[in-house]
Formats: sequence, C-alpha cells, structure tokens
Amino acid sequence: MPELPEVETFKRYLDRTSLHQRITNVEVCDAYVLKRISARGLARRLKGRRFENSHRHGKHLFVHACDELWLRLHFGMTGSLDYLKHDEVTPKTARVIFRFADGRRLAFDDQRKFGEVELVENVDEFLQARGLGPDALDVSLSQFKTIVGKHRGAVKAILLNQQLIAGIGNLYADEILFRARMHPANKAARLKDKDLKRLFRATRYVLGKAIALKTDFNRLPKSWLLTHREKRGRCPRCGRALKSATIGGRTSWFCAHCQKRI
Ligand SMILES: [Zn+2]
Repeated sequence: MPELPEVETFKRYLDRTSLHQRITNVEVCDAYVLKRISARGLARRLKGRRFENSHRHGKHLFVHACDELWLRLHFGMTGSLDYLKHDEVTPKTARVIFRFADGRRLAFDDQRKFGEVELVENVDEFLQARGLGPDALDVSLSQFKTIVGKHRGAVKAILLNQQLIAGIGNLYADEILFRARMHPANKAARLKDKDLKRLFRATRYVLGKAIALKTDFNRLPKSWLLTHREKRGRCPRCGRALKSATIGGRTSWFCAHCQKRI
C-alpha cells in the first residue's frame, strides 16, 4: 500500500516527467476511481491546461493545474503512475490517462481499484474537511510529542491514525517502531520524553531513507524489518523469530526481544 515515501516518490516522478505540457485529453478507463466528478467533467476542466507543480500531504498528491484547480490523486492499495512514450503500451490496469500535446501520456494505474482521482479547488480546505493531521515529515519534535503523548491507545494505532499524523501506514509504522525499539502495543501515554524523542527521530529517519532509496525494497538496508516480516522471518538485529499480532486493526510484525512491552 503506497505510504508517504511511495507517494513522495510518485510526486518526484510526476514532477520530472509531466509538468508544463499542454493536456490535450483525459481518458477515463474505469469510472470507479472518480470522486465527485464525471469523466466528461474531468476532461473538460483539464483540457488545454498544464500541470504546473505538485504538493504532497500524507498519502495524497495534489497536482496544480491553474489558480483554483488541483488534481487530487490517492493511490489506495496498489496505485502508481506510469509516464508512457508514444510506442509504449498502456498498462491493463491504467484507470485514467492524461494525454499531452507531444503524444506522451501519464497513466494512473491501479490494480485493486482503491485509488481516487478528484478535482479540488483548495487544498487546505480539502485537508481540513478530511480532518487530516500534519504531514509526518512536516511535524516538529514538539508537535510530535504533543500529538503522540496526549493520546490514549497503542503507539502503533496513533502512528497509523491519519487524523493525528498523515502519511504513515502499516509497513512503515512497524519499521519506525522496530528502529525505536518500541513494542507496537505500548501505550502512548506511558512513553517518557526520551521515548517520544526516539520515536520522532526514527520516524524521520525511516521515511527519509525510504524516499532516498526511492522505496526500492531491494535496496532497503538488510538491517530493516521490512524485508524480514514474514512467517519464519528472523529479527535482523538479534536473530530471534519475529512475532506478529493484530494491533490497531492491522497485522504488526515485531521482535519481542528487541521491542520490549512496557
Ligand atoms: Zn530482535
């Protein structure tokens, strides 16, 4: 599931390939993906425009088309972007295709159909209406301490709650907790100041490193949990068998030895 690092990687890909070119057509191959707009309306409002820049907040990507027109992309479970040259075949899972004046195309792919495409007039209003918290990479240490420290419940559930901090999903939450050596079920209210600081640093490190490696799982450090989280997986730090449990409604992987329960 695309989380903050994946969406940031899509943002950089879009910025590199698809800005400043006139949009000549928008083809919607599967209308489930459209929210509050018709296929015809989407094409009509974007035709003749150019994508000028983009902005990411949490797992949402906003692409600026003109003053009060932003394309919002949410990648759901399996969404991604594909910039296609003339002779490149459109993937079967392309749901919306933005066609540019030079014949190239930007495809929004989405195999499992949980993605969302929408037009919004004002990004801040959208974020407010959704009640989204600050972006996980924009939060300061003091904000982070306030948000995590004052909420009840398991620390993992807090990291996953988009209304508190936006952008962290199941995989990176487990990775952050592993790096901070914190059990996912630990109660946030019981964390000490130094624990919160450690968790904050781990959050920034894990998200930043994943972005730097373009979220390529083959390049992620072997010392990370991500490539070991499976049945018979072993802790890359101590070699003991990893455990899994449902916490905050999601399957968590952790090392019960390195991540002590408090
Ligand atoms: Zn361990």
